[in-house]
Amino acid sequence: MRQAGPVSDVRTVALWRDGAAVLVPAGEPVVTAFDQGLARGDGVFESVAVVDGGTPHLPAHLARLARSAALLDLADPGEGTWQALVDAVLLDWRPAAEGVVRLFLTRGPGGGAPPTALALLAAVPADTLRQRAEGISVISLGLGIPADFRARSPWLLGGAKTLSYAVNMAAQRHAVARGADDVVFTSLEGQLLEGPTSTVVWAAGGTLHTPPLETGILGGTTAARLFARAAEDGWPTAATPGTVDDLHAADAVWLLSGVRGAATVHTLDGVRRDDTGLSVRVRELLGRP
Ligand code: PLP
Repeated sequence: MRQAGPVSDVRTVALWRDGAAVLVPAGEPVVTAFDQGLARGDGVFESVAVVDGGTPHLPAHLARLARSAALLDLADPGEGTWQALVDAVLLDWRPAAEGVVRLFLTRGPGGGAPPTALALLAAVPADTLRQRAEGISVISLGLGIPADFRARSPWLLGGAKTLSYAVNMAAQRHAVARGADDVVFTSLEGQLLEGPTSTVVWAAGGTLHTPPLETGILGGTTAARLFARAAEDGWPTAATPGTVDDLHAADAVWLLSGVRGAATVHTLDGVRRDDTGLSVRVRELLGRP
């Protein structure tokens, strides 16, 4: 067993090297400093929840990873490689704990060298668990692009989960500096887009809504799962081009992502809001096997 300390200290790394998953001690270097993922954020990634010691939603993440890689003209090493990397990092994981596996695919050092593929395992941060349990305060911030621009601008990589998350992280820091937890991005015209690491979902008029993918947002695997199960359950769903005013008027608002799950928005731009009891139903739907 590699784990000695508490589960929150567990950090495991597996690198794809010469056709096999190789475990690397967490404190040791894994890639060359010339890796284009480091130099330019030129790569893609996925964050996959570890539930009961397994990764039940891995297939949806691998499908998205393949789409992201294709948008960046990166060679995806394929499901077998990713599964081997996930299996390697999960070998000693304690099933009772919640974890997150991050999969990275970068362009590597270039010059004909293969892309870098690796998996990291860590415990879910305490703050993420707090936000899931207690809900979140969110501010809206403009992204400065028209809502229909990214879908017709492939160089902007709309819909790809790229490693270039510096803007997303800066937006979250901006929110924290203003006393909030997270952000909803809006387009130039004020249309809802997404959170820096989440999909926006709201309930209104008996329907669950989320912004259309034609805005160039990332297609969230958690929102897709929720919508599929809600539809099975007779709860209508729709891709709706909403605004921040629609969120203020909604019965409930959530930011959805694989690891945090459905975080109920209890405050939007400084205004307290309710969830009319709907978060329980959303969690139940997401928790179904
Ligand atoms: N949108 C963005 C920009 C994200 O980074 C993420 C997750 O990291 C999501 C949405 C939610 O995706 P998922 O539900 O697949 O975790």
